[in-house]
Amino acid sequence: MHLIIFTATYGDGDAPTNARKFFDKLEKIDQPRSLFVSVVGFGSSIYPKYNEFGKQVYHRLVKDENMKPYLPFTEVDEEHQPEETCKQWLQLWQQKSGFPMELKVDQFSKSNIEKQKFKVTHRSPLNKDETFIISLQPTSHNDYQSGDLLEVYASETAKARQYSIARIQNKIVLSVRKHDHGLCSTYLANCHKNDDIMATIKTNTSFHFPKDAPKIIMVANGTGIAPFLGMLDENKTNIPVDLYWGGKNIESLSIYGEYLEDAHKKQQVSNYHISYSRENEVVEYVQHKVAEHKEQITTDLIQGAVIMICGSLSMQNEVLDLLELWNKENPEIQLEQLYKNQKILTDCY
Ligand SMILES: Cc1cc2nc3c(=O)[nH]c(=O)nc-3n(C[C@H](O)[C@H](O)[C@H](O)COP(=O)(O)OP(=O)(O)OC[C@H]3O[C@@H](n4cnc5c(N)ncnc54)[C@H](O)[C@@H]3O)c2cc1C
Repeated sequence: MHLIIFTATYGDGDAPTNARKFFDKLEKIDQPRSLFVSVVGFGSSIYPKYNEFGKQVYHRLVKDENMKPYLPFTEVDEEHQPEETCKQWLQLWQQKSGFPMELKVDQFSKSNIEKQKFKVTHRSPLNKDETFIISLQPTSHNDYQSGDLLEVYASETAKARQYSIARIQNKIVLSVRKHDHGLCSTYLANCHKNDDIMATIKTNTSFHFPKDAPKIIMVANGTGIAPFLGMLDENKTNIPVDLYWGGKNIESLSIYGEYLEDAHKKQQVSNYHISYSRENEVVEYVQHKVAEHKEQITTDLIQGAVIMICGSLSMQNEVLDLLELWNKENPEIQLEQLYKNQKILTDCY
């Protein structure tokens, strides 16, 4: 019997959301029968912890005496002939096992995506967190929404980096944190008004403003607030929205001030819950604020609210852990069901 695992890696070598409890669950499983194990990891070698989760899965599994390594751990690198690696793995599998298997490997090809010019209309100075706002005017493509992704090319040969789009007054507004030695974030931080940048828009339908929701709970940290700024602007029918945001200090919030004030004036946001990790003696993260509002959030979710999470993967995982915990007292807010009914929408990195 075979166990074959195909897994991506997110953020800093982390597990994909639906595998975040993989190791905990594995510990609880008694596997009496012998299994042959093969693991294929998908990632991009531009990240230092490339394919880390896949590696950990493979090494953990083959430690078990009932799990025998079958094919060697294979890394599919988005940067280096991913289709070829997949085909080679498939050939190896078929030669060794004799079982045919079909994999669609044409998803990697991006050559048909045409880059377009976007004109910089504004770039704010960098704040203490090295974060800034950059506004762009598309020169052609105008069919995009807040929650879509802008794939930015820092040079002719560079691999694109993704940024969450806020659409505000027909402009693309991004909130970007400059990383030390980060190629694309440094490139954007050095852009000036009227510069052209090359990028493509990637539609991200699973993270659009849910116009039919009775209420929306937005949870973000850091630059994760960006798509929500656009969605608040899009909230023309004044759907009740509670926004939870966490950042380092008051200055971290101030670059978003004008957008939030505007949304407040137009009643496009009902409540703000802001937390700071470095402003006061007590360290407070956005997930702490979410935990404080357990009663309100569970009631809202039971009544059909949508919860949207954007920002760091670690924050997302802690919020999901809270929902799982609350589910023990409230069977109605079952995580899988919320995902299935599109009541949880996430876009974390
Ligand atoms: C769906 C999605 C949405 C996103 N949305 C946003 C957003 O709205 N805003 C935002 O700011 N980011 C966002 N990101 C992250 C963004 O795509 C980039 O990953 C981020 O800007 C870093 O890219 P970079 O080119 O600057 O860094 P890279 O050049 O890709 O470097 C990656 C990391 O390696 C480190 N590094 C590189 N070289 C060295 C070195 N020599 N020594 C030590 N460390 C090094 C960098 O500091 C950086 O942390 C999103 C990501 C995803 C997947």
